[in-house]
Amino acid sequence: MSIQEQLKEVLASISKSEADAGRDAGSVHLIAVSKTFDADYIRPSLEAGQRVFGENRVQEAKGKWPRLREDFTDIELHLIGPLQSNKAKEAVALFDVIHTIDREKIARAVKTEMDKQGKQLELFIQVNTGAEPQKAGILPQDADAFIALCRDELGLSIKGLMCIPPASEDPAPHFDMLKEIAARNGLSDLSMGMSGDYDQAIAHGASFVRVGSAIFGKRDYPV
Ligand SMILES: *Cc1c(COP(=O)(O)O)cnc(C)c1O
Repeated sequence: MSIQEQLKEVLASISKSEADAGRDAGSVHLIAVSKTFDADYIRPSLEAGQRVFGENRVQEAKGKWPRLREDFTDIELHLIGPLQSNKAKEAVALFDVIHTIDREKIARAVKTEMDKQGKQLELFIQVNTGAEPQKAGILPQDADAFIALCRDELGLSIKGLMCIPPASEDPAPHFDMLKEIAARNGLSDLSMGMSGDYDQAIAHGASFVRVGSAIFGKRDYPV
């Protein structure tokens, strides 16, 4: 199948999952995860109308998106990979949304850059719902305090929460945990669900799903 056909299938599947879950049509946003693929490979999805994309590396995104934005002016770019504070300046300049705020140092660096650049990004806090040592994200037991710090001390407006459940586990309890942390902190947006589980994530309340390989095919090198 072509990228355009696969994109269409994913969008149809999202619509069906929205309906099955009794959610409003259009309440779930598709982030097409284009990491590892170059600009020419991504282009057909833009020509098919997709405008919201996710990348996990600042450097890689910098190499392809400024060029694509010359041809498609209404692109919305989401950073879904871990951010180092020395990349905050470039990240704020390039992206519209960051999903991976997970510690005070990064929150402060992003706040400083947004103020400097006069640019307001939408921000998600990443929660390490499985408490995996190798994975980014604030630990669930520290999430409430971190959300409060971001809002009250740094004056950041937080859009929602993001998680990547452990690969080997049923993601449902992780989706529910994220939803519960969001609800008790008055946050409505949930960034959760990937190619293998986005329908399930929608059933559990996702408002942003991050889908890569189901649209663009298998990635050639691990990331
Ligand atoms: C790569 C990636 C995705 C997309 O994964 P697929 O399984 O290819 O859909 C989603 N979220 C994050 C954070 C990623 O790094």
